Amino acid sequence: MQRVFHFLNIFFISLFVNAQVFNQVIADETQRVDSVINLLVEYENFGPKPTGSPALVETLEWIVNKYEYYGYSPVIDTFKIGSNESYNIIIEKQGSDLNQWMIIGAHYDSVEESPGANDNGSGVITTLQVARIIKDLNPKIGVRIINFGAEEQGFIGSSHYVKNTLSSSDSILLMLNLDQLGGTSGKDNSKIYCERDNDINPLSNNVLSSLMTDTLSKIISLYTDLIPVISDAYSSDYVPFENEGMIITGLYQESDYSDHYHSSTDLVSNMDVDATVEVIKGALAATLYFSRMDGFVSVNEIVDHHHELIPNPANNYFTITNITSPVFVEICDMQGSVVRTQQVCPNDQIELFDLYSGLYTVSISDQSKDFRMHSKLIIAR
Ligand SMILES: [Zn+2]
Repeated sequence: MQRVFHFLNIFFISLFVNAQVFNQVIADETQRVDSVINLLVEYENFGPKPTGSPALVETLEWIVNKYEYYGYSPVIDTFKIGSNESYNIIIEKQGSDLNQWMIIGAHYDSVEESPGANDNGSGVITTLQVARIIKDLNPKIGVRIINFGAEEQGFIGSSHYVKNTLSSSDSILLMLNLDQLGGTSGKDNSKIYCERDNDINPLSNNVLSSLMTDTLSKIISLYTDLIPVISDAYSSDYVPFENEGMIITGLYQESDYSDHYHSSTDLVSNMDVDATVEVIKGALAATLYFSRMDGFVSVNEIVDHHHELIPNPANNYFTITNITSPVFVEICDMQGSVVRTQQVCPNDQIELFDLYSGLYTVSISDQSKDFRMHSKLIIAR
């Protein structure tokens, strides 16, 4: 079931990636993330969870029970891998747009040698927290959370899902992958990788993945203590989605975990649980933002098509069309830092000499702030 990405979706996405302002409602929701150490220890205590093991099934039942407790009805998506079976666990929070979905993925299997507290207990408990917190909210875009099986054998569960389970009537706006988010005990865990699609096969989904990942990095800056670092998507469950042309992004820890990776020491005691909680807040804020949970679209986010940035991409100047009185212009880089604030009069040229090539957000507002527009500006030299 190959998914075709509709032009309309691209238009729609471009509307909401343009609108990134701090939202107190999102910030308040992130305060509902629990201390997660108990969940991590419960996951770890099942031991290694390779495909075909009783521990994998016990972990599946544990996850299913949690989702049921939160009020969901999990669906088990069974698939064959050699002589074994494995299973994806799927829950949904339906949106008001019936066929539009964002998918959040986090595999729950581990390699044979490892209890996988970080890889990928950290991702699993993130999906549990997000599921609990969004249960009674009302998204515009549906949120589908999938815990994949058999990731460690080459994304077998996510490949099965994309090829056999995903309905052709579903429009997937974004796949957010969560894999190894837990940080490393004793190391600097202040940064987090935000992963974009840099794979050229196909190329068609790369620009939107970049925009989504820029947006994700801005969300991390706005709602967590972490510093986002853009990196390339690599070797996890987003790969089968990317291969079919869908838009992907992901989170992955930045600090080095190689001493414990795929080993018996992948334990909660070797992670940084405080840093994990920050990543969960970021994943939750991204879910609320991308799914447009109720109340999150303010009047300040109205996009006005009467004004354009010309030229765009720009070199050393740009102008704003159809301005009849002075406006305030704020330019932000993709980390969310304001790099320029100035008043602009009709026909003014706005200088860009001091800014590097790259992607920026331009916000334009009138004196009373009644009107506000956001747009992307590319500086290319
Ligand atoms: Zn993993």
